[in-house]
Amino acid sequence: MLDPRTISVVAWDLDNTLFDRDAAVRRFFQWYLARLGRDAPERGGPVLLEAIMALDNGGHGDRLAFCREVRVLCGHDPATAGQLWTAWQKKLPEFIQPDSATVGALFWLRNRFRHALISNGGGALQRAKLRSAGVRHHFGAGDIFISGEVGFEKPDRRIFEAALCAWGIPPEQILHVGDHPTNDIMGAAALGMRTCWVSRGRIPPPDMRADATVEHSREVASLILPKR
Ligand SMILES: [Mg+2]
Repeated sequence: MLDPRTISVVAWDLDNTLFDRDAAVRRFFQWYLARLGRDAPERGGPVLLEAIMALDNGGHGDRLAFCREVRVLCGHDPATAGQLWTAWQKKLPEFIQPDSATVGALFWLRNRFRHALISNGGGALQRAKLRSAGVRHHFGAGDIFISGEVGFEKPDRRIFEAALCAWGIPPEQILHVGDHPTNDIMGAAALGMRTCWVSRGRIPPPDMRADATVEHSREVASLILPKR
């Protein structure tokens, strides 16, 4: 059971935790297929879009390999994957819509807890996503840990250790909130952090042990703030 009185830092994952990353990716590829002239139903646009979303797999896996596979699906030379990767990094943040309920939860929580970010991805892109998701101002400069900048990806314990070193507090005072069973929940729990899994309507994997589960990040506020 999670005891909110012991928590001082809420360390958030970013993608599919603080905003709907998969919806943003879908909007990006709708734009991308339209640009290629491949979005119309008679050209198989909707089927192609679903195939790309299946390949994307929530953003997990080698991103350049993903770009190569998308280019092949679209009938192009995989060697041109770099063009898609460049467009992805530049344009994806434009397709992010802030989640007003999550932004509101961060606002209420900051009265009592320090917010931090532990996220996998490249520094520039993750920071652009933070701004587009409307939550950048909730995080102090020293409270952002992005794998591309730290040098280690979740679930590697070293990215969590980097955060712990910076804060100098025991791991059990940190609540890590994230949607990925292995990267977020098992990774943080291995260091003794408290964990909250954002299920997004999924059934928990049998081998995952989270201290708490919410369906949506907005519920973290009611989970750890005292009842008014
Ligand atoms: Mg995530």
